[in-house]
Amino acid sequence: MTNLFSLIDKLHQEQNLSGQELKVLIEGRDQKTAEYLYDKARQTAIATFGRGIYLRGLIEFTNYCRNDCLYCGLRKSNLNLERYRLSLSQILDCCALGHKLGFRTFVLQGGEDHYFDDERILQIISEIKSAYPDCALTLSLGEKNPKSYKLFYQAGADRYLLRHETRNESHYRFLHPKSMSLSHRLDCLKTLKDIGYQVGCGFMVGSPEQSVQALTEDLLFIKSFEPHMVGLGPFIPHQETPFRDYPSGSLELTLYLLSIVRLLLPKVLLPATTALGTIHPKGRELGILSGANVIMPNLSPVETRKKYALYDNKICVEDRPTDCHACLKTRLSSIGYEINVGRGDSPLVASSEIDGLLLAPLPINALLKERKGESL
Ligand code: SF4
Repeated sequence: MTNLFSLIDKLHQEQNLSGQELKVLIEGRDQKTAEYLYDKARQTAIATFGRGIYLRGLIEFTNYCRNDCLYCGLRKSNLNLERYRLSLSQILDCCALGHKLGFRTFVLQGGEDHYFDDERILQIISEIKSAYPDCALTLSLGEKNPKSYKLFYQAGADRYLLRHETRNESHYRFLHPKSMSLSHRLDCLKTLKDIGYQVGCGFMVGSPEQSVQALTEDLLFIKSFEPHMVGLGPFIPHQETPFRDYPSGSLELTLYLLSIVRLLLPKVLLPATTALGTIHPKGRELGILSGANVIMPNLSPVETRKKYALYDNKICVEDRPTDCHACLKTRLSSIGYEINVGRGDSPLVASSEIDGLLLAPLPINALLKERKGESL
C-alpha cells in the first residue's frame, strides 16, 4: 500500500501528483495523514504570505438570476425568495464603509441578472474605481460573452471569480439544468484569463453525487489551469432546491482538499469560505490553519443579506460590517494571524502590471462606443 506520508512529501516538494496518486491521497486519508498534510500546507502558505490574511469586502448586489442551478437558493425556480437589487448609491455606500474599515478589495457578486447590462456594470465599475483607485475590484457575475468581459476589464475590473463547480461532465449535468454546459463555463474561464484578469475557479466539496474521481478531475484541472484564486467550500443544501435532502459536505474533507490545493499551487489566493464557517463555528480559522489565506466578509446592507441565501443557515447575516471586522480580528489573533490591509493581488502578477492598471481604466463612453463599432 502506498505510504500517504511520502505522497504528501512528494506533493510538497514537486507541487504535483498524478490523478491516481491524488485519488489514493483522498481515499486513504485518516486523522494522522490529514494533520501532516494540514501542517505542510500551513507552512507553505506562511512561506508565501506570512501570517497576514487578506480581506475581501463582499457586496451582494442582486439576487435575481436567470439560471436554475439545482444546488442554489437563488435559482430562478425558487419563487419563495424575495428578490432585490442594490442601487448604485447603495453599492457605493458599501464601498465607503468597507474602505473606512480598511478593505482594499471589493467583490461585486450577483446572480446572472439581465437588468445589469454592460452599461450598468460599466457604470458601477467606473464609479468604484474612480472613488477608490487604491482598491482592487473583483467581479463575480457568472457567464458573460467575451466582449463584456473585455469591456469590464478595460473599465478597471481587476479580478473575476467563476467557480467551475465540477470538471466531470456527468457530474456537471447532474448539478445544472440543460441550458448550461461545462464546456461553456471552461471557455469563459479561459477567456477571462486570456484577457488578463486575475481569475478564480473552484468547486463545492460534498455536492450531490460527487465522486472521488470527480474530485480528482477538479484537482487536476486546477493544477493545469493555474488560476490566481480558488474558491473551495462545503456544499450546504438549501430547502427551496431539489437538493434539499442531501447532506452538507464535510468539514474534514474540505480542509483536506484546501491543503492539497495549497500544495499544488503554493501561491494561489485561497479563501476560508463563509460556507466553511457555516458548517463549523471555527471553520474559517481551521481553513486558515489548513493553508487558506483570504477571508471574504460581507459588506452588503444587513437588510438584504438574508435574501442572498445561496444555502441555508449562512452565518453573519445579521452582523454589521464593523462588528464582522472586529470579530474577525479577534478570531485571527486567537490563531496567531492578523489582517493584512493590502490589496492582496496574486503573487503571480507582476506589480508593474498592477501599477499600469491603476493608472489606465478607460472611460465608459469610449468603451461603449468601441463596443458598438464591434472593434473588440
Ligand atoms: S449558482 Fe449562480 S448562476 Fe447558478 S442559480 Fe445560483 S446565482 Fe444563478
